[in-house]
Amino acid sequence: MKNVRELVRPNIRNLKPYSSARNEFQGNASVFLDANESPYNEPFNRYPDPLQWKLKDKIASVRKVERTSIFLGNGSDEPIDLLIRAFCEPGIDTILSIDPSYGMYQVAADINHVACHKIRLNDDFSLDASDLLQAVGPHTKLIFLCSPNNPTGNILSREEIYKVLSGFEGIVVIDEAYIDFSSSPTFLRELTQFPNLVVLQTLSKAWGGAGIRLGMAFASPEIVGILNKIKYPYNINQLTQERALELLNREEAMKGELLEILNERTRMETALREFPFVKKIFPSDANFLLVKVDDPNAIYHYLVEEGIIVRNRHTVTLCEGCLRITIGAPEQNKRLLERLAERLLING
Ligand code: PMP
Repeated sequence: MKNVRELVRPNIRNLKPYSSARNEFQGNASVFLDANESPYNEPFNRYPDPLQWKLKDKIASVRKVERTSIFLGNGSDEPIDLLIRAFCEPGIDTILSIDPSYGMYQVAADINHVACHKIRLNDDFSLDASDLLQAVGPHTKLIFLCSPNNPTGNILSREEIYKVLSGFEGIVVIDEAYIDFSSSPTFLRELTQFPNLVVLQTLSKAWGGAGIRLGMAFASPEIVGILNKIKYPYNINQLTQERALELLNREEAMKGELLEILNERTRMETALREFPFVKKIFPSDANFLLVKVDDPNAIYHYLVEEGIIVRNRHTVTLCEGCLRITIGAPEQNKRLLERLAERLLING
């Protein structure tokens, strides 16, 4: 790969980042008169740790990575945006992604005036690394892969991902938002082997923390350093830092919930298959099922009327006729199945 210094935008390479009060003084003190905070309303009168070390230490031990290889963002959407901003010169550089996949890569690129080229997956949603590498141009800085992929639910082949990692000179981002639901291993263990790799994970899915907005980017300390340079100084608020620590301390409970979701996924797959309007259920390594049905719009609107919201993916590339159904708690899943059975009775 090219070295990171070469890949990063020159203005970011030369940027002198904002130095906050909490950055400049590190150590123990009892009187803080350096940040124009109020002395009242402890503890929330104080700015939070800009580099979130306590939380990173916990994540380092849970995920078995070095603390200096962790960047924390306001959801994984923040590092997606920051990576594009750090490496892509607007109007010149480009990113490459797969189709279909998570929509934010394109949106973040559009916001930054960076072209996003997309390579269509095979009909079974598998990845062909050579197709992707052929589309790399002189200005392609980043490749976004998503595994397990959204909205398709499948894991991408490890061999194909290896080919992308070894064959591309820029940065490869693997979005592992759904990795906890998969029996395939994470790419975190490959971080030391591939300095151009960034792995994204999140507390929003298996950990049950979508509301507190905590996304994680794992990468070389050099890439993490660049993201730290351009983030808002206090991008993770105090409440989130505290709640995230609490969530990470209930790993065993989370694993129990995870098992229940996986059992429900199997149960839902079997039950949904029985409906004559269900044409296909795609294999899933995530907490949702992509289900191909007759008349997806009618079923979608019927469910909305019944107060049940699924995601209509009918207009998405290769997903014609498909609804994406998140696996809920047993009671919620049961309600969905009951309403679908009722519709069958009415419509015959
Ligand atoms: N990546 C993927 C593949 C997703 O599906 C989502 C959320 N739908 C995200 C990232 C965003 O996660 P976060 O809540 O951490 O911003």
